[in-house]
Amino acid sequence: MTLPHIRPVLLPAVIACSIIALAITACSQSIAPATTHSTPSSAPPAGAAAIASVPPTSTAPATVPSSPTPPAQPTPTATATPRPTAAPAPTPIPTATPIPTPTPSPLATVLGKFSGAARATVEGATLIITSSGIPDHSSPYFPRTDSRYTPYAGPNTAYRQNPNTVQTQTLVFRLPLVPQPAAALSATPLGPIGVCINGIPFYNQYAGPSQPLTNEINSFDQYNGHPQMSGQYHYHVEPLSVTAMHGRGALLGFLLDGYPVYGPQENGRILTSADLDQFHGHTHTTSEYPQGTYHYHFTADAPYLNGAGFYGVPGSFSPR
Ligand SMILES: [Zn+2]
Ligand SMILES: [Zn+2]
Repeated sequence: MTLPHIRPVLLPAVIACSIIALAITACSQSIAPATTHSTPSSAPPAGAAAIASVPPTSTAPATVPSSPTPPAQPTPTATATPRPTAAPAPTPIPTATPIPTPTPSPLATVLGKFSGAARATVEGATLIITSSGIPDHSSPYFPRTDSRYTPYAGPNTAYRQNPNTVQTQTLVFRLPLVPQPAAALSATPLGPIGVCINGIPFYNQYAGPSQPLTNEINSFDQYNGHPQMSGQYHYHVEPLSVTAMHGRGALLGFLLDGYPVYGPQENGRILTSADLDQFHGHTHTTSEYPQGTYHYHFTADAPYLNGAGFYGVPGSFSPR
């Protein structure tokens, strides 16, 4: 996977070296660091290293065109015959400078999505997302003395604020980097079942064991979130501040099985649960996954985010 990044960097360097015979040893030294940078196991560092190594190699071709010009000057007879010996090959070289055609990997795209309280890293085959659990938007669930406090301003006339306030958390989500469909069904747990791109946990369609969200919905703030007893703010339904910012069809996060979660809109249409399978998802290409992937969608109707359980083999969540 790292090879396509390296090849365009090395090739022009090799060509440049073959032109300047004396410079072969110098060039071979400059190549060596590039190959050692490419060895780290995770893709994004390798890509970054490949891009970072472009400037050193591009200095080699820059010296080539400057040398042929002095010998052409002393012959004023304008017959143009002396030229061929001096200048044939160097001219095409600059066009070969590997100004990257960086096709960002889905992983790099995905890592770039996280913001706010969330930090995403890769460890082996695991995508690790850590979060303080503090929403990147205001809420009536911040203490009234907090600058991020705002009164309820949603449309729900039955709004009834719960007695909890947002508390800083230490949340760690471990997701498979390459999600795999599960052979056996596993139900989603109470508590976090996934994570939003702003670091706020996703919860499932239950308020408690076999207890529907019916009453709890009335305590969702104007961004569709609320904190539970330990102050862990979370979304059971569409995170309205995130879809307002990124669009209702945007990638909004991931469930613990590593499959992405999208908003309710697709191809200009608002989906309902009837458009989705028993896990509340389906498979097709998306802008982040041009090869296609299974993914979940939020819908306004129950079960909102997840139906019968995880489609894939879930990773893990741990508060610390
Ligand atoms: Zn809840
Ligand atoms: Zn879809």
